[in-house]
Amino acid sequence: MDKRIENFAKLAVEFGVNVQKDEDVLISTPVENPELARLIAEESYKKEARKVAIDWKDDRITRLNYEYQAGETLNEVPDWQVEKSRYQIAEKKSNRISIVSEDPDLLKGLDQVKIAESIKARSEKTKEFVKYTMNDIVSWLVISVPNKKWAKKVFPDLGEEEAYNKLWEVILDVSRVSESWEETKANWQNHIDTLDEKASFLNSHQFDKVHYKSSNGTDLEVGLPKNHIWMSAGSSNAKGDRFIPNMPTEEVFTSPQYDDVNGKLVASKPLVYNGVVIDDFYFIFENGKVVDFDALVGKETLAKMLESDDGSKNLGEIALVPYDSPISNSNILFYNTLFDENASCHFALGKAYPTTIKDGASVEDDKVREELGINDSLIHEDFMVGTSDLEIIGYKGDEEFKIFENGNWAF
Ligand code: ZN
Ligand code: ZN
Repeated sequence: MDKRIENFAKLAVEFGVNVQKDEDVLISTPVENPELARLIAEESYKKEARKVAIDWKDDRITRLNYEYQAGETLNEVPDWQVEKSRYQIAEKKSNRISIVSEDPDLLKGLDQVKIAESIKARSEKTKEFVKYTMNDIVSWLVISVPNKKWAKKVFPDLGEEEAYNKLWEVILDVSRVSESWEETKANWQNHIDTLDEKASFLNSHQFDKVHYKSSNGTDLEVGLPKNHIWMSAGSSNAKGDRFIPNMPTEEVFTSPQYDDVNGKLVASKPLVYNGVVIDDFYFIFENGKVVDFDALVGKETLAKMLESDDGSKNLGEIALVPYDSPISNSNILFYNTLFDENASCHFALGKAYPTTIKDGASVEDDKVREELGINDSLIHEDFMVGTSDLEIIGYKGDEEFKIFENGNWAF
């Protein structure tokens, strides 16, 4: 597996953020599994990066902080932290690599209100830096490495060590990483081409509206804004360099019209939010907003998420993923959005990507609703809705077009 992990690091640097000479790289990584970050740092320097900086994350310390610190201490965002982001992100325009590796039950049993408030306080203080990734000003990438608790949650029947190795293997499989670098590159080139084809077909049709129907109860109409762009694996940063923000990625996505979503939307997989599992849930939308919802598991956490701010009850992303994707066919429930969202059609509540509207990236956050018809919020949370019988019809005036049939692309 070592050779594959090396290729994964190379993939992250060359195809992921696509590091250029003299650029800075900012990696956030779990302390529990630092190897990939170290390999990425080395590959970045080989690509003549100017400087690689690391933000270490420790799940156990995070849990202890939430457990023992007073709410007001948790809500503190020292100026030096804001200045650090200003230097690394706004000034140095660092390539940002987030290596995510979460224990899905990390914050289970803790005070959800305290957690939600401190996350909100931090998001508000650092809001100005969100646009650097959301608007693709800098190259950014989310990838993942296993940890033992997460691996045990995904493979409860295996021993700890075995589960951990199995999760590594699966992550490399679904990220299309092989032992040969040439093959890994070719895998990604082919994959990008396939996704681009679907996106350009949808872009040429410019549907006004799409209608979702599934036997689980989903019956939802979603308006699409004028000049929307369906995006796929690849993006370009402000300098014009290509990058791939998610690995794995199987989705073709755009933004819904923020105030034109009506009907019922039933989730098809659990969602892990703030270290808590939310499961068996649905939303009822009217004129774009969630007006009713329920969840059999984690309802309190879901309610808190919906109350985050004015935009957290509206949709900010609509993404198409075939039911027969490699991740979906693995039949593994990852309890991790990066993987589960790429195994299933999904939506996100909260902020939309302004890059999904023609010339959208130049519009200020507080004007995106009015000028582009897309949503703004402090949150952006994907949740999964794909099923084996999902049907999606696109409408353009009187014209109807089948986009998805039996959970898969219909064209
Ligand atoms: Zn997505
Ligand atoms: Zn998303």
